[in-house]
Amino acid sequence: MSKINLKALSKQELASFVKESGLPAFRAKQLLHWMYERRVEAIQEITEFSKDLRERLAEKAYISNLEMLDRKSAGDGTEKFLFGLEDGESIESVLIPDEDRLTICISSQAGCAMCCRFCLTGTMALKRNLLPHEIVDQIISVSRMIGPRKITNIVFMGMGEPLANFDNVTEALWRITGDMKISPKRITLSTSGIAPKFSELANKAPKVKLAVSLNATTDEIRDYLMPVNRTYPLKRLLEACREYPLPRGRRITFEYVLLKGVNDTPQDAKRLIRLLKGIQSKVNLIPFNPYPGSEFERPDEKSVLEFQNILLNAHITAIIRKSKGQDISAACGQLRARYRDERTAL
Ligand code: SAH
Ligand code: SF4
Repeated sequence: MSKINLKALSKQELASFVKESGLPAFRAKQLLHWMYERRVEAIQEITEFSKDLRERLAEKAYISNLEMLDRKSAGDGTEKFLFGLEDGESIESVLIPDEDRLTICISSQAGCAMCCRFCLTGTMALKRNLLPHEIVDQIISVSRMIGPRKITNIVFMGMGEPLANFDNVTEALWRITGDMKISPKRITLSTSGIAPKFSELANKAPKVKLAVSLNATTDEIRDYLMPVNRTYPLKRLLEACREYPLPRGRRITFEYVLLKGVNDTPQDAKRLIRLLKGIQSKVNLIPFNPYPGSEFERPDEKSVLEFQNILLNAHITAIIRKSKGQDISAACGQLRARYRDERTAL
């Protein structure tokens, strides 16, 4: 009989497991505490349990962990982690220090099916959705490795489209906010714009921050850059943004990757102002991070600043995101887990 992975169980399933094992209900709560707050890697580490109880549990259950395959540090302090999953797939997470913040950028899928033209993850196929514990475990594994430093913020901006893995991402968010006790205010979910999922997210998930990768101001250009736009064009996407129930004082972040000669003109900036009318918003401008084989170029600094100024003059908060970790291919859109490719190439 194969052993049960305690981390793969939902709260209810864990409660049933405890009951079926003839244990009192509070053991489930203790297990959650030790897995998610104390972040133990094995049942043997749960010192609150007697040796006998630990041995009994370990006979039929275990606690899974991501396998760290590689860890790279960039000159600016950014770190990239390559993790192996139980079935041999691999994913990447990035740790980004910035002033008083320590942000982890996590993956929601192995690969991505959205095929955005400017994104390296988009060039690999979708391998599979990550399970809730595989999403949460990126935070647990990295936290264990960097102690005593503490992760302050979490962004779903790694590999994959979180709203295309809706149920597992929602369950992961409940575990992160409920069991790990991280405030939803410190979590940002970034989506390429699967519009019908916005209201579902508002209804079913903790109140995390929403970021939308807009990246173009006309359907023609967005259709070309992001095939998702052919299904949910700008009008539909922005309607979903207008209807999204924002907690008081909260804004939607619009991410805008600036691609030289494609979407970076003053006309684009002016159209962007019109599109965002009536939406509590701020804009993150991300100059394109190049990678070998890409058809796009990063615009020069002058046109980035000009684009930003047009937005600022219209009283739109617009921040230029300095790219971090470029020397280890950890910057936005540069993730492409390829442990197995590299091994087979050797
Ligand atoms: N799939 C989600 C989250 C992951 S991508 C989404 O698309 O929102 C995170 C951000 O990286 C997105 O805003 C995306 O537009 C941006 N991005 C992708 N490739 C990039 C690149 N090569 N340079 C700069 N930003 C990029
Ligand atoms: Fe997927 Fe986001 Fe990359 Fe598009 S930008 S391919 S949605 S990870």
